[in-house]
Amino acid sequence: MQQQCTLKLLPAEAASASIVQQYAASHFSVPVSSISGYHILKQSIDARSRQPWILLTIRVFINEPFVERSHLQLALQDVSKAPHKVIVVGAGPAGLFAALKLIEAGIQPILLERGKDVRSRRRDLAQLNKEGIINPESNYCFGEGGAGTYSDGKLYTRSTKRGDVNRILNILVQFGAEDKILYDAHPHVGTNKLPQIITAMREKIVDCGGVFLFEKKVTDLILHDNSITAVKTADGDRFDGAAVILATGHSARDIFILLHEKNILIEAKPFALGVRIEHPQQLIDSIQYHCNTRDALLPPASYSLVQQVDERGVFSFCMCPGGIIAPAATSAGELVVNGWSPSKRNNPFANSGMVVSVELQDIAAAGNKKGMISKNGLQNPLSGMYFQQAVEKKAFEYGGGKFVAPAQRMADFVDQKVSASLPDNSYLPGLNAAPLNEVLPGFVHYALKNAFREFGKKMKGYFTNEAVVVATESRTSSPVRIPRDPETLQHPQVSGLYPCAEGAGYAGGIVSAAMDGERVVDEIVKVLNKN
Ligand SMILES: Cc1cc2nc3c(=O)[nH]c(=O)nc-3n(C[C@H](O)[C@H](O)[C@H](O)COP(=O)(O)OP(=O)(O)OC[C@H]3O[C@@H](n4cnc5c(N)ncnc54)[C@H](O)[C@@H]3O)c2cc1C
Repeated sequence: MQQQCTLKLLPAEAASASIVQQYAASHFSVPVSSISGYHILKQSIDARSRQPWILLTIRVFINEPFVERSHLQLALQDVSKAPHKVIVVGAGPAGLFAALKLIEAGIQPILLERGKDVRSRRRDLAQLNKEGIINPESNYCFGEGGAGTYSDGKLYTRSTKRGDVNRILNILVQFGAEDKILYDAHPHVGTNKLPQIITAMREKIVDCGGVFLFEKKVTDLILHDNSITAVKTADGDRFDGAAVILATGHSARDIFILLHEKNILIEAKPFALGVRIEHPQQLIDSIQYHCNTRDALLPPASYSLVQQVDERGVFSFCMCPGGIIAPAATSAGELVVNGWSPSKRNNPFANSGMVVSVELQDIAAAGNKKGMISKNGLQNPLSGMYFQQAVEKKAFEYGGGKFVAPAQRMADFVDQKVSASLPDNSYLPGLNAAPLNEVLPGFVHYALKNAFREFGKKMKGYFTNEAVVVATESRTSSPVRIPRDPETLQHPQVSGLYPCAEGAGYAGGIVSAAMDGERVVDEIVKVLNKN
């Protein structure tokens, strides 16, 4: 028989299979010898009290042989001679999962990616970090696996209603992620492990007869009678398909401009902008675990903070315990930061985005000042993107070049005082002490400085000059929406065009982008099956 229970255990107890079995035996009042094994269904940490506890929900095999956890295997087929081809623009999580789903449905994906493969991309990242030189086609956002490849690889999502989260996690396990992501309350892969997983996905797509092309930047969409028939790439090649999935991510500004120039409807949308904050990891551990030194069996601690300041939301975003702050811009002269961590999360710093919501009226107000609002009062749908870009340019300027980022100690940020020195930090291109109130829009600076004080009350020790505030975290989500029909998921003006995932405004993160890629394919399959 198989029975389920939840155990509350000390970290050392949870780490020992024999102790877990003893607790399970006593829970079900059976001898330990009758238990042949267990599967962990869910694992989380309860650190509210002085003693952190591990909560383990397990399925226990009692008086029957233990069976290993079964894994999903995608039913992939040879699509090299498939009757239908679908163009997928962008090989980020959305594009990759869309391609696999197309193959499952017997359709040949033609994946066009502007960047390079995982390995070549690594060299471009090294050049960016060490020499401050960016390749605009191959960086933390562009290249095989998109922004997901050198991301932190946290797989937690709130978008549980938008698709099957478990299926996405299982597919990642099929391509090499650890089983642990299937039951951890906050699953995490780590930047060191993602590239192999992404490579394995690409190899499978190609083995099945999918086409996967690098350094193929889509620069034009070919329309006929309000329907998309093909795309063109920068090198002059043309690719035809029954449909086009546009999964180009939130940093493909040229795609937004292309759509606007072709009079294909796009809309400005609210987004968020702010800074990345870094503390010593030991400080965050001591606050969250109420101790001086973290129990070695506990993971480096994380946090999640949210505050309303004058009805404006300020929230932490993409917290990376034991992590590194990364230069995530896609163009020269613009500075964007983000964060990642290796699977062991064993760096000495804890970083997190801390962002402020930017509403359409903020963009309009800034646009009015700069003449971005047209005479008839209509807002340029690209004005949010230009607003975002202007802050990134200022950050680059205040950093002093070569992707050195402007920064301030946290209390100095609040007091509007340029820091006399900056603490040790993880940002490889280097930090430059600068007045961030001159870099950030006034309302963003105001909201952050008020929120920091409040966060210091919620987490005693958080508000400290030991922490460094780095500008700017500006690409948390897309400032543009590419609209789509809620039923068919096609663009309302262009049949066969499927705006997809983060760049189109329908996802925020790896898992939700992957789910959106799959959803779009479901709709394409319905259309192709009708014809
Ligand atoms: C440093 C960092 C850390 C992150 N950490 C996390 C995390 O821990 N958890 C999480 O959920 N999310 C994280 N993210 C965000 C996550 O990576 C994105 O949400 C996700 O990758 C979005 O997927 P996507 O497929 O919609 O777009 P993207 O991943 O942005 O992929 C778009 C792809 O399209 C390509 N492309 C763009 N324009 C063209 C064109 N014209 N022609 C051809 N190809 C084109 C790009 O090169 C890119 O490969 C992180 C991001 C970064 C940068």
